[in-house]
Amino acid sequence: MKTYIVGNWKLNFTVGEASIYLHKILKTLPNYRDVDVVVAPSLIALQPLSLQIDRHKVKLAAQNAFYRDYGAFTGEVSFSQLRGLVDYAIIGHSERRYILREDDKMVAKKVAAAIRNRITPILCIGETESERAFGETADVIRDQLIGGLSEVADDDLDNVIIAYEPVWAISSSKSAKIATPDEVAEVVKLIRKVIADTYGKDLAEKVPVLFGGSVNTSNAGAYLTVPGVNGLLIGGASLILSEFVDIIETAKRVRS
Ligand code: PEP
Repeated sequence: MKTYIVGNWKLNFTVGEASIYLHKILKTLPNYRDVDVVVAPSLIALQPLSLQIDRHKVKLAAQNAFYRDYGAFTGEVSFSQLRGLVDYAIIGHSERRYILREDDKMVAKKVAAAIRNRITPILCIGETESERAFGETADVIRDQLIGGLSEVADDDLDNVIIAYEPVWAISSSKSAKIATPDEVAEVVKLIRKVIADTYGKDLAEKVPVLFGGSVNTSNAGAYLTVPGVNGLLIGGASLILSEFVDIIETAKRVRS
């Protein structure tokens, strides 16, 4: 299976800065066939960046979009408008769930809208610190996974990527902690079990599962060798050229 390294730039960089940064990434990176490098700039930068990108080296992802294709939805951008511009879309990121109040129903509609528009959803799931402390991790993972996939036809499920991002490990969360590879392994195993129980073993083996949460150059290798992990979703470290490229090189080394 391919390895995915996805950089989530969040609300950082002007369009000009994003363009310069992408230029540097493209200049620095060789074409690694078995590592899919993806960057998710802000929506406003997607159009100009799509003109400068070499899709053999780097692909674009949206950080979000709206689930209806057109209509009276002031301020929204639809997956249908992003069709052709991006290959992937991050959906259900914890910042959208907890700051912007997106629930599983909305996440499910967005996952379906992405697939309908030939965009691969990267469905983010993960428990908060208190949910983990109360022993609710397995329930949260099951609910977010089944809820997020509830509007996807069985035939389309092999077009989905899952990202396990424990909220307590994301660098922007208050007092972020580093997840141990064992903690990641346990939840990734659970994710595959939930998929196997719900959709069958074949799919459970095929769906790429990424890990995200304070990934940096010194821990990327350890996460990439966790059984069942097919790549990384990276926030902070993806904004620093040397870190991002180093993580991509680690992925190439570790997984080949
Ligand atoms: C994220 O927000 O998706 C993320 C993983 O951020 P960070 O790598 O900064 O923890």
